[in-house]
Amino acid sequence: MKSEILSLLRERGNYVSGQELCQRFNVSRTAVWKAVGQLKKEGYRIEAVQNRGYILIPERELFGQHELESRMNTEWAGHPVRFYDTLPSTNLQAKLDAENGAEEGTLIVADMQTAGRGRRGRSWNSPAGTNAYFTLILRPRFSVETASMVTLVMGLAVAEAIRETCGVEAGIKWPNDIVAGGKKICGMLAEMSVEREYIHYVVMGAGINVGKQTFPEEIAATAASLWELCGETVSRAGLICAVMGNFETHYASLLQAGDFSGLLDRYNSLLVNRDREVRVLDPREEFCGRARGINPRGELLVEKADGTVVPVCAGEVSVRGVYGYV
Ligand code: ATP
Repeated sequence: MKSEILSLLRERGNYVSGQELCQRFNVSRTAVWKAVGQLKKEGYRIEAVQNRGYILIPERELFGQHELESRMNTEWAGHPVRFYDTLPSTNLQAKLDAENGAEEGTLIVADMQTAGRGRRGRSWNSPAGTNAYFTLILRPRFSVETASMVTLVMGLAVAEAIRETCGVEAGIKWPNDIVAGGKKICGMLAEMSVEREYIHYVVMGAGINVGKQTFPEEIAATAASLWELCGETVSRAGLICAVMGNFETHYASLLQAGDFSGLLDRYNSLLVNRDREVRVLDPREEFCGRARGINPRGELLVEKADGTVVPVCAGEVSVRGVYGYV
């Protein structure tokens, strides 16, 4: 009920009478009063005025279980939410939960990660109190090849959510980064458990640099946060919920088509490497060419100098701009 009270107060942006709350949730005045008291203890500024009711005073950014639940506007993605102050890594927790039967749509969120990870065991800088770290559990019934496109769906969902919530012109650096102003603002990592072509689960994780922070020296030149780019404190809960909404819509398109065809135009329009010279860092062969966009299988089409077009699978490949990170 606490999350529902919050969302009603936030939606209304004005006083909501105690009586309305009692009727809406079919509880006593004391129960409403208690729930409001608990929300206040969690840091929400809710004022009670006689004859008018309760009002939520928007204040500093709040982030936690109830904030996420009260803003989640989806059918299944982000239900349930499991919020933690600290985790080694949201992907790791999601895998543990998935092994223990967590349902599709379960979302693991942490305020801080002590061992945040990127691809190939690289680390993801995850300080407390400022960024969004989350992992969604999926139990798809499609092929392992299609599963590789889940990262692309999440990339599209994140880039669009950033644009919607704070106006930062986020683009996608295929396959697993979101960039803005030439710098990385989000990294994504998908991991799956597969047995003989049967997918037990996919965990789709993302870390978005949201608030004000000082990046460690080794990434200071390539990393940025939304705060730096738009000059405002962006609500992490609002952003994560917007990502879940977009993900749910786009994932339905992936399931329906069985490939990326329904999302191709949207994706390619946000692809920062499109029509740029790129260097493909494939462990088997490194080569340069011009990125032409992705195909319905989610592969990046790279045109070499001799005119041949090579489809590059996401797998373990990194793509760099010839003159810099993007
Ligand atoms: P690349 O960015 O080289 O193509 P990648 O997309 O595979 O590689 P990941 O493995 O997803 O990168 O992310 C890990 C890398 O991202 C780290 O090695 C570091 O360079 C950089 N990084 C780590 N933390 C952050 C952060 N909070 N913001 C931006 N970049 C970060």
